[in-house]
Amino acid sequence: MNMTTKIIIWMIAGLLLGSLINIFAYDVALIQNYLVHGLFHVVGTIFINLLKMLVVPLVTFSLICGVCGIGDVKKLGRVGIKAFGLFLLTTTLAISLALLVSVTINPGKDFNLTQSAQTEFVAPEPPPITQVFIDLVPSNPVTAFAEGNMLQIIFFTILFAICLLMVGERGRTLIDGAEKLNDVMLQVVNVVMSIAPYGVFALMAKNFALQGIDLILPMIGYFGIVILVLICHVTGTLMLLLKFLGRISPNQFLKKMRTAQVFAFSTSSSNATIPVTLRTVERRMGVDNSTASFVVPFGATINMDGTAIMQGVATVFIANIYGIELGLTGYLTVIGMSVLASIGTAGVPGVGLIMLAMVFNQVGLPVEGIALIMGVDRLLDMLRTAANVTGDAVVTMIVARSEDNVSMEVFNDPDAGILESVELPHVKQ
Ligand code: ASP
Repeated sequence: MNMTTKIIIWMIAGLLLGSLINIFAYDVALIQNYLVHGLFHVVGTIFINLLKMLVVPLVTFSLICGVCGIGDVKKLGRVGIKAFGLFLLTTTLAISLALLVSVTINPGKDFNLTQSAQTEFVAPEPPPITQVFIDLVPSNPVTAFAEGNMLQIIFFTILFAICLLMVGERGRTLIDGAEKLNDVMLQVVNVVMSIAPYGVFALMAKNFALQGIDLILPMIGYFGIVILVLICHVTGTLMLLLKFLGRISPNQFLKKMRTAQVFAFSTSSSNATIPVTLRTVERRMGVDNSTASFVVPFGATINMDGTAIMQGVATVFIANIYGIELGLTGYLTVIGMSVLASIGTAGVPGVGLIMLAMVFNQVGLPVEGIALIMGVDRLLDMLRTAANVTGDAVVTMIVARSEDNVSMEVFNDPDAGILESVELPHVKQ
């Protein structure tokens, strides 16, 4: 049995066990204390930490190899501009589709406000957009690395790698060193991924034990539309772009994307999924490290198609509940703000909701309205993160194809880079 199938089986098992606990044993203290908040919580959190632990060193070494591999600052600029343009395009298409579908279906018209507004939502102050640009440049790279600030790490590492090229022969040993360290980090990814089934199981079991179906029922209109648009975007819009701009088979792509989507779904974090996305596009789909090492972490930080979709549907839903007419200007503002918010949204769990406050403020919707959708957000976060990660990989493929940086032989080989269980080395006597 290959690793992806194994991970999916454990994921479904976790989902079922979690749901059973939610239905039959939600109030059993023993199960809650020892299983849900005990074993599942510990194993799940350790697994997420293991993934997060890989991100900073992997991105750093991989990016140094990537930039030095390109060896041409002009090409680097071109790849960056193409990726940025495509990220904006996919997010704009995502939010437009979300608005179109929600305005047509009009969720929230008959919603009973008094019944459901039990939770208070106090919106934390979203950062002003100007700050997002200022924050691109770290005042202290060590802090940036320590905090895992992706954009700052990317900025510093690219600058460092360009200068490594500029110093010529003297930089050679460092570049060789980075290549070796990158190989080691890729092996660490393999080791961590070989225990993924259990980590994914624990995350699923915990989430579903705590989030019951009863939360979803009153919100089924909103919940259903977000899922519908996510599916249309991932299997429709993105695949059309992939086919026509990237000249790539969507079927093969989706098959190979499954593992990364499962990781995104169970961790709810595009950032924590970077090691898996990077591995998928490089090893499974044949994208050259010079493009992947830059576009994947860049996308995980600024490209959030799924988050934009949630924000679009949420805006229409809350506007309907409060009986506020948004009008064309309102919708256009929502499109602009959601694209900006998606750039400003770090790829970590739940921030999409915080950035929604920024969109609401701009179009004059009551921020307390966010309290209504908070209950179901945990589950939607999982789904939209899978969409976010798919968008990152689609853009990486399109950019790489345009730069002739994809090995189609690897892409077309169904078994290329497939995950194997890791054999630990024997200790020599
Ligand atoms: N969890 C999402 C991600 O990491 C961001 C969000 O929508 O909250 O991609």
